[in-house]
Amino acid sequence: MRLILHGGAGPWEKDNHPQVLDGMKRALIAGWEVLRGGGSALSAVEQATIILEDHPLFDAGFGSFLNDMGEVEMDALITDGRNRDFGAIAAVMQVKNPITLARLIMQNSGHRFFVGAGAEKLAVDYGLRLVPNVSLVTEEEFIAFQHRLTNADAVIPPGRGTVGAVALDSVGHIASATSTGGSPHKKKGRVGDVPIYGAGGYSDDRYGGASSTGLGENIMRHVLSKQVVDRIAAGVSATEAAVSAAEEVAAHIPDPEVGVIALDADGRLGASHTTAHMPIAWIDAAGDLHTAMTGPYPLEA
Ligand code: ASP
Repeated sequence: MRLILHGGAGPWEKDNHPQVLDGMKRALIAGWEVLRGGGSALSAVEQATIILEDHPLFDAGFGSFLNDMGEVEMDALITDGRNRDFGAIAAVMQVKNPITLARLIMQNSGHRFFVGAGAEKLAVDYGLRLVPNVSLVTEEEFIAFQHRLTNADAVIPPGRGTVGAVALDSVGHIASATSTGGSPHKKKGRVGDVPIYGAGGYSDDRYGGASSTGLGENIMRHVLSKQVVDRIAAGVSATEAAVSAAEEVAAHIPDPEVGVIALDADGRLGASHTTAHMPIAWIDAAGDLHTAMTGPYPLEA
């Protein structure tokens, strides 16, 4: 069994590092409890992601960045390595835990990807309660949004990131989850990499799984998560796969601002980022818990 999480690639304000890592740790413990209880990789990545979606310091669920119309618009993707399956949603505005809706869509809808009001209608059909958009807005983000509105050259403050998880369960299944409020002050209707299967996340029990973060436009162009798993399938370690795939993006796009976490079918972990930080949390082979703000990370080879 293995579990690795990320809290978003980007610059993170130093003052926030302890709270960020504490949030990551709590999410890791929640996901690990699922795995230790014999739960599936899918349930573990969902559970860990829910904790991070509910945490105000991450750009997913409560705490999402506002778009240029002052709204929270969220995207999420869950992938199931058993049969290369996925569920995705985009531009959802009234769902507290988008990752749960993505899973329900994969398992129940007969389809795989829903957007906006249609996704929210399904949420109601599946018994999820819709929440007011404003209930997902933190006071800090509301103040920052107002500042951006009146200051065309306002600098987006560092901190808050997309969240992601990859797990290997006791019977060898691999799953990934990725959830985001998107990039800060994005145009309404803009969708990034997160819900795009193979870009925001990917898993295949035979090889491994990955979850990406950073500038979605660059991640989509390189289908980053699938790239990482393809490299593992070709025989390199999860660490090498994550590092070389991120380097390839950087070779094509200067300062691409991307990051990725990965694990392989043997439970070896990998993570890499081209940004100042990418908080991650992981459980090692001995079952010990670790967190780190910035790579290179002391993961297994
Ligand atoms: N990848 C996300 C997006 O472009 C943002 C992030 O990971 O920070 O929507």
